[in-house]
Amino acid sequence: MRVVLLGPPGAGKGTQAQVIAGQLGAPAISTGDIFRANVSGRTELGTKAKAYMDAGDLVPDEITVAMVRDRLAEPDAKAGFLLDGFPRTIAQAEQLRESLAELGNHLDCVLELVVDEEELVRRLSGRRMLVDGEWIQRDDDKPETVRHRLQVYREQTSPLSGFYEREGLLARIDAIGTVEEVTERALRALGRTPGAGAPARDSE
Ligand code: ADP
Repeated sequence: MRVVLLGPPGAGKGTQAQVIAGQLGAPAISTGDIFRANVSGRTELGTKAKAYMDAGDLVPDEITVAMVRDRLAEPDAKAGFLLDGFPRTIAQAEQLRESLAELGNHLDCVLELVVDEEELVRRLSGRRMLVDGEWIQRDDDKPETVRHRLQVYREQTSPLSGFYEREGLLARIDAIGTVEEVTERALRALGRTPGAGAPARDSE
């Protein structure tokens, strides 16, 4: 299955992406994680992306689109994937459709995680990540940057909801509740029985 996870910062995309991808037996591909790995590794891509990320702005499409195209061409993404954090603009969505069409493929579903803004601000300002045994706040989770990221989401990314609805691909998921409850709603929307796991291999 080829699935996109859509939703504002703080909606729980990263957490759900891991769990849902595990159930589908497909890789979870997070553009935010790829960018952060490049920033830590001080690669050329990381150097280009860092200033945009720290400001809470989107990294320009020409950088992001090429990066995703390369990632989707890797063998583990051939049979399916779950994209987290991409596309984030209509232009990226159109590029994704084109890249998939070149491979003779198309998206099967877009899951939109829906959370109200008050809850998002609360979640993001309290969020910490574990790095080398220490809990740290992401630079872009500072309150001013959080507000800016939500504004960027509203202006540039939220139109994707209508875009995918018109394509008949959108499933809206209420993302308030426990991680398990949200996963269950998402899997049902994908037509999967929660808890069934990835299909067993022949040799097993
Ligand atoms: P969140 O969903 O919590 O905002 P992500 O980890 O998905 O965070 O992304 C962090 C940052 O990485 C974004 O604020 C943006 O600067 C950059 N980024 C990630 N994905 C994209 C994308 N598809 N297009 C442009 N920039 C992106």
